[in-house]
Amino acid sequence: MPAEIINGSRLAQQIRSQIRKQLKAFTFKPGLAVVQVGDDPASTLYIKYKQRDCAKVHFHSEVHRLSAEIPQQTLIDKVNELNARNDIHGILVQMPLPDTIDEQTIIDAITPNKDVDGLTPHNLGNLFINRERVTPCTPTGIIRLIEASGESIEGKHAVCVGRSHLVGKPVGIMLLNRNATVTYCHSRTTNLTEMTRQADILIAAVGKPEFITAEMIKPGAIVIDVGINSVDDHLVGDVKFDDVIEIAGYITPVPGGVGPLTRAMLLENTLKLASK
Ligand code: NAP
Repeated sequence: MPAEIINGSRLAQQIRSQIRKQLKAFTFKPGLAVVQVGDDPASTLYIKYKQRDCAKVHFHSEVHRLSAEIPQQTLIDKVNELNARNDIHGILVQMPLPDTIDEQTIIDAITPNKDVDGLTPHNLGNLFINRERVTPCTPTGIIRLIEASGESIEGKHAVCVGRSHLVGKPVGIMLLNRNATVTYCHSRTTNLTEMTRQADILIAAVGKPEFITAEMIKPGAIVIDVGINSVDDHLVGDVKFDDVIEIAGYITPVPGGVGPLTRAMLLENTLKLASK
């Protein structure tokens, strides 16, 4: 029997509906500021979606566009200006940044209580000691998708393929915090298929189209495909969906899986920060 598809778009819609209900208790609009440096078309599109999502839940949102040529200090000054504003509760600096700017220095400049993507050392430190406050959007969305399968995380063997600060590493910690046994794989892992075949939960966050194939899957596994790769003008994930669906127990599609949840978690985190 083919795997059950976990529908991220539908789940995100339910989350937005809950947010609208929670917002009724507010006397002000939660505010999200997004900063874009340069004009990368993918970033422009993602930001457009984020603004549209904000409008759906009646949040205030604004985009600050800066030239790709600005010195790093100009971006730090922009972040500090937003840190100081009372009507802005969440700040997101859209990545990637130009090579002339150090991404971590910019993340460090965001005050932790406006760090809507949970990526400052303060918030990642809290995650590390199992004091989850504002957690990174994509990993948090992945946890929601796994929970939506109805399967428990505790006691499962979770294998994360990818160890980036943005996705692989924090999602592994979140799974560990929920009592999974976690294995990290990366570009230097020598026995990848042997590892992935042991996964009850497989997180594919590699950035390589259809990298995870059917023979790498344990029958019945929960497979979460984080990858977004543009191939011949359409999007494909890191998982060879058509083959893996025949082996896995649950699978997320691309598009319509992790992407909508990442954006829904951005809204949830904005609301969380606004209610503090
Ligand atoms: P990244 O920073 O490039 O990290 C990729 C990871 O994959 C690295 O840890 C790398 O290992 C590992 N890797 C590369 N080649 C490998 C191989 N042959 N075998 C095993 N591991 C390998 O990417 P990312 O930011 O984590 O993003 C991953 C993917 O998710 C991308 O397609 C990205 O667009 C997508 N993404 C989607 C969302 C969403 O909302 N849906 C959000 C964020 C990212 P090393 O550490 O050894 O280099």
